[in-house]
Amino acid sequence: MPESSRMPKQLTIISGKGGTGKTTFTAAFAQLTENKVMADCDVDAADLHLVLAPEIQKTAPFYGSRTPVVDLERCTRCGICTQVCRFDAIHGGVLNLFACDHCALCMHACPENIITMEESHSGDWFISNTRFGPMVHARLGIAEENSGKLVTVVRKEALNLAKEQGAEWVIIDGPPGIGCPVTAALTGVTRVLIITEPTLSGIHDMERVLSLTTHFNIPAQVCVNKYDIHPDNTRRIESYCRQKGIEIVGKIPFDRGVIEAMVSGKTVMEADVPGVAPAVRQVWERVIGDW
Ligand code: SF4
Ligand code: SF4
Repeated sequence: MPESSRMPKQLTIISGKGGTGKTTFTAAFAQLTENKVMADCDVDAADLHLVLAPEIQKTAPFYGSRTPVVDLERCTRCGICTQVCRFDAIHGGVLNLFACDHCALCMHACPENIITMEESHSGDWFISNTRFGPMVHARLGIAEENSGKLVTVVRKEALNLAKEQGAEWVIIDGPPGIGCPVTAALTGVTRVLIITEPTLSGIHDMERVLSLTTHFNIPAQVCVNKYDIHPDNTRRIESYCRQKGIEIVGKIPFDRGVIEAMVSGKTVMEADVPGVAPAVRQVWERVIGDW
């Protein structure tokens, strides 16, 4: 089969919450994987660019929602739009954009038929070059919602680019939480790597993400980051994963050098953080190796 017609494999790296070191892994995987496209799906608080330093090659607008636009010259100030709006977002035809939920009820209710729903520019997505290859990423506008929709756009564009370039992998840096953006980052991928840490909230979030991957029937693996800060909780994670038949692909020790590497814009491999760099490489080999 020609390289370009082969479907790229998709790996989503996810944590359930921020601060577990997920971006450390994603950046290291970007360096270690040869033939791939990166997709930064943490569109609300993207930080992969801090390490990968993308040079933007293409910018495209993202229209995430439709917003009411009122022809105020024809408005009779009847107040019906105010009465029907459940978000207190429109007063006599004047809109408070930050309160609006884009439900279009006012448009349907206006007796003068002078409200239209128009697409609003909610952010941008980009294709960039990095020192480790191409990356698709995005920026959502301030107070904009619909990050799930933007995640879908980033994934679609990354997959298209990977197909165009005959890339074997799309490596996706997933958003935190378990809401709509996370679902958008997980659906249809080949495999999920969950980065957790041995804290009670870390364990709780790992369990929630695993319930999602089980629900969507996506193979998942777990890596315990900073495993040595709480050995008892690490054992709890290991026992939980054993019971559920989830493979633990590695345990990474805590090292302040990881933060220092990130601050200086380097991956842990580039900074050669002792103990951490070889352990991350082993995780990468176990995640990528059996595909
Ligand atoms: S679109 Fe919905 S939320 Fe926005 S102003 Fe109209 S009724 Fe209110
Ligand atoms: S319902 Fe229509 S006419 Fe009445 S206040 Fe609102 S925009 Fe103006």
